[in-house]
Amino acid sequence: MMAKSHVIIGVATWFAAAPMLNLPPTDSMYLGLAVVGSLLPDVDHPQSWVGRRTRPVSTALAATLGHRGVTHSALALFGLMALLLHMGNRQGAVSALAVGYLSHMAADMLTPRGLRLAWPLRKTWGIPLCRTGSPAETLIVAAVVGSIGWYLWHGGVRPGRMLHWRQGSAWGMVQGVVQEVTRPVPACSPPRQAHRSGPPPRG
Ligand SMILES: [Zn+2]
Repeated sequence: MMAKSHVIIGVATWFAAAPMLNLPPTDSMYLGLAVVGSLLPDVDHPQSWVGRRTRPVSTALAATLGHRGVTHSALALFGLMALLLHMGNRQGAVSALAVGYLSHMAADMLTPRGLRLAWPLRKTWGIPLCRTGSPAETLIVAAVVGSIGWYLWHGGVRPGRMLHWRQGSAWGMVQGVVQEVTRPVPACSPPRQAHRSGPPPRG
């Protein structure tokens, strides 16, 4: 799928997943990490949005492991999560990144090529519904966003209530991600912190 489709599906998936994780959906840092996660698997493709910005890493990955190889597998998802948690990153931040990452893999599974989820095994999984960049892709993105919007609406989420959530902005997302990435990591992993839960703050 196209990068913009991955970002839209990643953000929509994050909005649906965040309440289940007791995390604020519009928090800039979490939203930013979900967007990063939704683009990250394509680091193995030099012509992708993220691949063009991460040369020569993307060129090396494409040459050695190929596109839709290890970075689009369960091994990469769980390996990345385990590594980030081991490095002392907060569980909420890792969860947001993982939700975005997972949404990317789910979206790519809707294309004819499918995914090698059990990489290094060669078997591919997928439901071929659309080709990358085709009108069907736009339809699928609209259907995903519509379904998640319907789900949230029936869960009692209204645009007015969302305004009470901690606000996000494009600059805030960048700041939040940079803060998380550059946050000093303690010498040993701290005890798991409880995340903010309960109803969103009012006013
Ligand atoms: Zn991909």
